[in-house]
Amino acid sequence: MNTSSSSSFSSAPPRVLSRIAVLATGGTIAGSAHDATRTAGYQAGVVGVAQLLAAVPALSTLANIHAEQVASIDSKDMSLALWTTLVQRVNALLATDAVDGIVITHGTDTLEETAYLLHLTVQSTKPVVLTAAMRPSTALSADGPLNLLNAVSVAANRAAHGQGVLVAFNNRIHSARDVVKTSTFAVDAFHSPEVGALGWVQDERVEFLRGVLRPHTVSTGLTIEPVAADGWPMVEIVASYAGATRLQVDALVQAGVRGIVVAGTGNGSMHVSLQQALADALARGVAVVRASRVGSGHVMHNGAAPDDALGFVTANSLNPYKARVLLMLALAAGHAGPAELQRAFDLF
Ligand code: ASP
Repeated sequence: MNTSSSSSFSSAPPRVLSRIAVLATGGTIAGSAHDATRTAGYQAGVVGVAQLLAAVPALSTLANIHAEQVASIDSKDMSLALWTTLVQRVNALLATDAVDGIVITHGTDTLEETAYLLHLTVQSTKPVVLTAAMRPSTALSADGPLNLLNAVSVAANRAAHGQGVLVAFNNRIHSARDVVKTSTFAVDAFHSPEVGALGWVQDERVEFLRGVLRPHTVSTGLTIEPVAADGWPMVEIVASYAGATRLQVDALVQAGVRGIVVAGTGNGSMHVSLQQALADALARGVAVVRASRVGSGHVMHNGAAPDDALGFVTANSLNPYKARVLLMLALAAGHAGPAELQRAFDLF
């Protein structure tokens, strides 16, 4: 009888590690300050992906990592061109047998927009997980290394398959559709208003408490191809507030805007001057989507005025920034007219 624990260990099959591609784009997670006590005065997007990975040696026990530096930006400067590149790169990597999942490091400022874009356009059920940090990599108690470790844990976990694009941040796992940045400075900076997180990740343990019901990734019928071929349709956001005027809308129509999302008051309501300008824009073929500036809740389609009467579409529970992403993709895919666009907003 073999009682040697070492020989029984050596006969155990080797653990097969997931192959995870880490795509770095910049952000505070790659930020650097002159002084470790500085968490606000720093430069985002300057630390390379190799250094980010080197700060978390435990990653090598979780996954075989393939790293790429896709960009080095502050995500406030995210561009439509970089969005196209990023989605194409994610799809190309996931189409190979050599990659089981993807982690994207990103700035927090536009993370929710990029995550939702990917959620609608990734052509795979393999995990795609975005993460970020609120404190630069040089800070005391920097949150980036643990967020990165947790994101890789999620991407390497079977349970993350088929859940759409995910955001792993501060130990929680969020759906890309629902997650929003809710703090300018706290490390607990992301929440999913109304619905809450999907689950949590801690010490390599990944638990999902609920699933994602709405269509995403391979089941949306939306892809990046139309914008890659023809460019992004011009879609802008205007806000309603006390004393709002029609000036911005008129200027946008003049500039050839294809769609306008309104960050409305309350249930997507808007100043009467703005509403008149948008009705005029609609009459000239501009798609108009009512969203809310409130931060939680939804904007219900109104069978009376202004929606059915004027042809406004409502954003459901997407905030204005996510509604813009969906409107751009829907317009690029050739969806036209309030009824067809409303179907997209009710579905996704
Ligand atoms: N401005 C930074 C960015 O979005 C903020 C952050 O990452 O926390 O890139």
